Amino acid sequence: MLSVNKVQSNPAFTSMQRFKAIKMIPNITCACCGQKVITPEVADRAWGAVAKPLSTAVKKGAFSNLTENFPQVSILLKSFAERFPKLSLDRIIYNDENYLELRAAAVADIANSEPVNEKHPNPNMAAKKILYDMQAASRNYLRSSSVVMKRFAIFKDRLNGYKKDIFEQFQIYAKKYPRKTLSEIVNMDEIYKFHKMKDFLQRATTREQLDYHFGNIKDIITAKRPDLAEKTDELKETALDIYAEGRDTQKHLVKMKELYEQALKENGLEKLKWKVFEELEQVPETFTTVDSFMVYAKDHKYSDGAILASLITPSMTSYEHIIPKSNGGKDTLLNGIVMCRGCNLKRKSIPYSEYIKYHPEMVYNTQKQMDMISQYILNGSLPAEFEFYPVKTSRTLYNYSAGKINVNVENYCKKALAKSERRMAEKNEELENTKDSRDKNIKRKMELEEEMKNISQNIKSLNNKVKDLISDTHYEQSLQDNLKSYLTEKK
Ligand SMILES: [Zn+2]
Repeated sequence: MLSVNKVQSNPAFTSMQRFKAIKMIPNITCACCGQKVITPEVADRAWGAVAKPLSTAVKKGAFSNLTENFPQVSILLKSFAERFPKLSLDRIIYNDENYLELRAAAVADIANSEPVNEKHPNPNMAAKKILYDMQAASRNYLRSSSVVMKRFAIFKDRLNGYKKDIFEQFQIYAKKYPRKTLSEIVNMDEIYKFHKMKDFLQRATTREQLDYHFGNIKDIITAKRPDLAEKTDELKETALDIYAEGRDTQKHLVKMKELYEQALKENGLEKLKWKVFEELEQVPETFTTVDSFMVYAKDHKYSDGAILASLITPSMTSYEHIIPKSNGGKDTLLNGIVMCRGCNLKRKSIPYSEYIKYHPEMVYNTQKQMDMISQYILNGSLPAEFEFYPVKTSRTLYNYSAGKINVNVENYCKKALAKSERRMAEKNEELENTKDSRDKNIKRKMELEEEMKNISQNIKSLNNKVKDLISDTHYEQSLQDNLKSYLTEKK
C-alpha cells in the first residue's frame, strides 16, 4: 500500500517500515533459496485485478464471520460496495484514503467491543489484522481462471519447485475451461478422478523408490556386517519418519545423512559412508506433486483464493530477523535481510551456524542479495541511511553464523568510499567557495569601514574648519567694528 517514496520521506516511520524500501526492490532475491521473490505491492495489484467486486463478496457472505462484531466496518463495506460497484476490496483499499477510513472504522469498533479489546491490547494492530483477514476473505472470490492465470503469469518464474508445476497445470486448465473458476476446475469430477489416480500411482512409485534405495543401503551394510540387519531396518523406520516430517526436503536429507553417519561410526563402518550417501541422494524429494495438490485442494474445500495463495504466498518477500527476536534480536533496519516466506518459516529461530548445514546455498545467495542491495544504494535509489546497511548487516551475519556466512562487501565499500570521497570533495569545494565569498565580504566591509573612518575624519576636519572660519569671520567682524568705531570717534 505504501510506495517507496512515501517510506523514504516520512520521518515518523520506524526502521522496520523503512526496511520496506529493500523489500520493494524489483527482482530482489531470497537470501536463502536465491529465488526472485514477489513484492507485496505487485501482488496487491494483481489480487486487486482478479478478485470479484466487493459487492459480490459481501453478497456471498465473505465477511459474515468478521463483521458480526464490527458494525461500523459493516456499514462502511456496504457503502464502498455501492460507491464502487465494479471494484474488488483490494482495488478499493489500494487507495490510501479508503484504507485509512476502513482502518479507522475497525479501530472504533474494537474500542467498543470489550472481549476483542482484551484479546488485542493494541487497537491499531488489531485493526490491521482484521483488515488483513478481510482482504484474505475477499480474495476467496476470484474471476474466471483465464483472467486469473493471465494476471498472475508474471509470478510463474518466482515459484518454487512443484508449485511451478501446479501453476503450469492450472494454466493448461485455464485454456481448456476459461470460464470456470479455479475451485470449480479442481472440483470437476473428471479432473479430480484423474489426479487422484495419478497421485495414487505416484505415491506407490515413490514408496517403491524409497524401498529400493533403503534396501540397497541395507545390502551395503549387511554385506560387511550381517548381524546389523535388524538395526538397519530400525534405521530405515527412523529415516522414513524424518522423510515424512514437514516440507524442508534439504533438511531431511541432511538429517538422514547424519543418522546413518552416526550409526556407521558406532559400528566402525565409516568407509561405507559415501556409498550410503549416494543412495540417500537418490531418494525422491517429497510425496508432494501436482496431483497430490489437486486432490488435497478438493478434499480440503480450497477456495479460489486459497488455491492461488498457497502457490504465491511462500514466494512473497518477508523480513527475516538475522538475530531472532527470541534471542534478543530487534526490529531494526540492520537486523534484517529479505527471505521468501517459505524459507523464513523453514528457518524459524535456528542459528545460521546450524541452519547453513541444511542450506549451504545460503552462503552464495546472501551474497547475491547483498550485491543487489549495494547496487541500489550506490545508484542512489535508497535513502542515505541505508549506506551503513551492507557493512553492518554483513558483520551481524558473520558474527551470528559463527563466521560461516561471510558476505564480501569489499567492492561496495570501495565504491561507497569513492562516492563519499567525491561527495566530500564537492562539499569541500563548496566550503572553500563559501569561505571565499565570506572573506571577500568581510574585506569589503573593512574597506567600507576604513572609508567611513576617512570620511568622518574629513567631516570632522571640515567641521573644525567651518568653526575656525566662523570664528575668523567673527574676529574680522569685531576687528572691523572696532576700526570703524575708532575712525568715527576720531572725526
Ligand atoms: Zn527462499
